[in-house]
Amino acid sequence: MYKYISTRNANLKLPARQAILTGVSTDGGLFVLPNLDDQPFPLDYLMEQSYFDIAFQVLKRLLPDFSDIELATSIHQAYDHKFDNPQIAPVKKVDDFHVLELFHGPTHAFKDFGLQLLPQLMQMSLDRQHRVIILAATSGDTGSAALAGFKGQPQMNITVFYPEHGVSSVQKQQMLTIYGPNTHAIAIRGNFDDAQHEVKQILNNQQSANTSYTLSSANSINIGRLAPQVVYYFAAYQQLVANGTIQMNDSVIFTVPTGNFGDVLAGYYAKKLGLPIQKLVVACNANHVLADFFNTGIYDRNRPFFKTVAPSMDIQIASNLERLLYYISDGDTAMVKDLMDQLATTGRYQINTDLLSKLQTEFTCGFSDDTQIKSAIKEVYEKYNYLMDPHTASGYRMVRQVQKENPDIPVVLLSTASPYKFGATVTDALIGEHRDNAQSTNNLLQSLTNIKMPQNLMTLWDQPIQPMHPIDKDAMSAVVQKIMQEDIAHD
Ligand SMILES: *Cc1c(COP(=O)(O)O)cnc(C)c1O
Repeated sequence: MYKYISTRNANLKLPARQAILTGVSTDGGLFVLPNLDDQPFPLDYLMEQSYFDIAFQVLKRLLPDFSDIELATSIHQAYDHKFDNPQIAPVKKVDDFHVLELFHGPTHAFKDFGLQLLPQLMQMSLDRQHRVIILAATSGDTGSAALAGFKGQPQMNITVFYPEHGVSSVQKQQMLTIYGPNTHAIAIRGNFDDAQHEVKQILNNQQSANTSYTLSSANSINIGRLAPQVVYYFAAYQQLVANGTIQMNDSVIFTVPTGNFGDVLAGYYAKKLGLPIQKLVVACNANHVLADFFNTGIYDRNRPFFKTVAPSMDIQIASNLERLLYYISDGDTAMVKDLMDQLATTGRYQINTDLLSKLQTEFTCGFSDDTQIKSAIKEVYEKYNYLMDPHTASGYRMVRQVQKENPDIPVVLLSTASPYKFGATVTDALIGEHRDNAQSTNNLLQSLTNIKMPQNLMTLWDQPIQPMHPIDKDAMSAVVQKIMQEDIAHD
């Protein structure tokens, strides 16, 4: 049986189920499956497969201890009738590049892919008596997608922490309107990194304290969230073959707007499973700690933090990079541990030149500041009548750059959210102004562009919202204790 291990200690082993239930390893490392390339995806059959079939083949490889029935049931429950496009992840042609639209799920950002499936996988892994308390730090989209995915799930209780001033109006409205007896959305005075750090602390400290409870994470550090994201890289490739853009086995390039390094890491997993990806392009915003890392080999988070127009990428500690360091060093857990210790104590580490050149053959990295993001939105809309959200737009400059360097290889830009989740920025980009409130701005944007707003974003403003009282990050742990006690009381 394949086992997951910690990125920091190969002796800490768990089956996939357990890795999904606990989220992070007890030593602070992330769970990885060694020998990812042992069982390549059967590309020969790709053309006959539905999104469902592709998901099944990918998950079978990444989560080997789930039975076929368990996987099939989970995938159906996660994706049937939940997405507003029959292809689930459609590829659109825009000028001479391609956009993979990942915003057709219930909350209109790509987080839905992982967060619709994660609760199903957890359900399959739980004993009848057991309860799970899920925690997530969010820069916006994880929060709404996690609440939507876990709401009403038996034996589960979900709490999301978001930075008080770090999310868009639509994101906040979504989080405060999706609620039920098992959901909590809590604002903290701090930024995403503060929230994520504290959530990791809480998970590490309390993991084994209570046996009838598991505390777990819904962040992309959970392998049950990452694995579903590998699927749409294959689905995109299939569409490019089907529409004649490429022949089977031709190479493609994916450009991925990046924050916590989850989405682009899923692309790297797809490559390890045999998808012909020539390069993965990591696109950042003005918080470009990753771009500097891929260019110099030095990861240094000691720098000013910017609030940008692409808030879901306002991150300085890209957690999933740790998994890449594991794979790129051929599983050198001692090195990963050493680097992560340095990051925790000094906020900085440097990799050796060997590793750096390995990274640079697989990845290219660059960034766009707010001005470049807005002008990308305007240019692509005016020239090609295609509307991008600011995160997607952060990748546009990189698309044009890699096209120049690789004129014969098709480039796919991952579109990570609907433009209507960030209506104010998009409208600003187009006409230099927006309305006072998010609802009328979205209506204006729709009448300006004639591009349809998703139905459930239209009705978002008619729904009652929960009261919101921001707390200090130091209070997060106590809040989690209280939620656990209430959960026991109501159980
Ligand atoms: C989360 C998110 C990102 C960043 O994805 P990572 O997996 O954290 O790199 C980019 N765009 C949007 C809209 C997001 O919600």
